[in-house]
Amino acid sequence: MSRALIIGSGVAGPAVALFLHRAGWQVEIFEAAEQPDEYAGLFLNVASNGLAVLEQLGLRERLVGEGHRAPHMAMWSSTGKQLGTVPNGPAREPDRGGVVVRRGILHRVLREAVQEAGIPITFGARLESIHETDAAVHATFADGRTATGDLLIGADGIGSPTRLHIDPAAPAPEYSGLVGLGGFAHVPGLAATPETQHMVFGRRSFFGYLVRDDSEVYWFANITHPATDRPALRKVSTGEWLAELRELHADDPYPVPQILEHASGEVGGYPIDDLAHVPHWSRGRVVAVGDAVHAISPSAGQGASLALEDAITLARCLRDLPDHSAAFAEYQRLRQPRAEAVVGYARAINKQKRVTKSRLGIAIRDAMLPMFLKKARDDTRNDWLYNHSIEWEQRAPIG
Ligand SMILES: Cc1cc2nc3c(=O)[nH]c(=O)nc-3n(C[C@H](O)[C@H](O)[C@H](O)COP(=O)(O)OP(=O)(O)OC[C@H]3O[C@@H](n4cnc5c(N)ncnc54)[C@H](O)[C@@H]3O)c2cc1C
Repeated sequence: MSRALIIGSGVAGPAVALFLHRAGWQVEIFEAAEQPDEYAGLFLNVASNGLAVLEQLGLRERLVGEGHRAPHMAMWSSTGKQLGTVPNGPAREPDRGGVVVRRGILHRVLREAVQEAGIPITFGARLESIHETDAAVHATFADGRTATGDLLIGADGIGSPTRLHIDPAAPAPEYSGLVGLGGFAHVPGLAATPETQHMVFGRRSFFGYLVRDDSEVYWFANITHPATDRPALRKVSTGEWLAELRELHADDPYPVPQILEHASGEVGGYPIDDLAHVPHWSRGRVVAVGDAVHAISPSAGQGASLALEDAITLARCLRDLPDHSAAFAEYQRLRQPRAEAVVGYARAINKQKRVTKSRLGIAIRDAMLPMFLKKARDDTRNDWLYNHSIEWEQRAPIG
């Protein structure tokens, strides 16, 4: 039986572990965090293509049951005018829309499935170095512990040490010019927003929110910051971020200022980065998946879904192809063009969110957007994002 060491218990890590386990592999997951945290990392959209992978793991309903179904995105101007509604999923198929869920819940659903399958997960295991021989790969962790396998799969996120082991000259993540912030709130009297997320092109910053049936508000903002600010951004406290956000959104329509007034807990403030054009996704016995090789900024709502697609694809290739070198090459061939296209799609959305426009520019955008969004409602041109189907039962193609 072949043995894989999987680094990272985010999204791609547990998913690839579950598929490989199903294919008869012995797998073990090593996660840097000391313990699971259901409240870490805000919330994310799992799109229909990601849900299709979860379905094949028998986890779709578990996740949907804990999330907020959001097949529609209602877009608003800074003056409170509704600009239009666009689908969060394939056009004219609201039943296949995305689900917004706390990131920690997605992690938990996957982690519980891993534990039910008897796959070991070690927390507090931060990968430090990788060493390969002809016969095996050895991982060394920060606390000195080691592990040995036939393969190592780096599902260790955008800051992946595995990516650097594969290619020390691999490109670094790029800053989008936007800082993402977000959190949770309860606003007295604010009604639930069934099946909908609201997006507001605010005067000085972009804002999104939804209200769950239990009245909890999930909100986020994207504010424009030059790259030179980047090192300083990480030091800003929650209180300082909230003060800045309240100021930036003070003149925006209800309920944006009210949500910020009632925001509670930590506000996650992070520079939004992405990563594309990583030339080598594997070397020797080591391969990387998910954000480690192609990070998509949150604007596309696709990062977690692509990580799930990578997981099923890599496991299929390892199951069906004669050796790991052939499997890794086929996996990259199948995945890279799609991942690059989604990164490009998210970059185009980010351009709209950056506030570089003059008052006149904003007026023109608000005048043009309704026409554009009216078309977008039934436009099937983005369906390629959502209609990507990867069936576990089908044999991986040989390139
Ligand atoms: C605020 C925010 C909002 C987002 N919104 C969306 C959205 O709406 N929809 C969407 O699909 N995607 C969204 N994304 C992107 C999405 O979260 C990622 O694309 C997805 O989590 C990638 O999964 P992954 O498994 O590759 O990496 P991750 O989920 O980042 O998991 C990597 C794991 O590896 C661990 N790790 C890191 N280094 C080491 C090490 N040295 N040793 C051991 N373990 C290590 C980390 O602790 C982590 O648990 C968002 C991202 C952010 C930051």
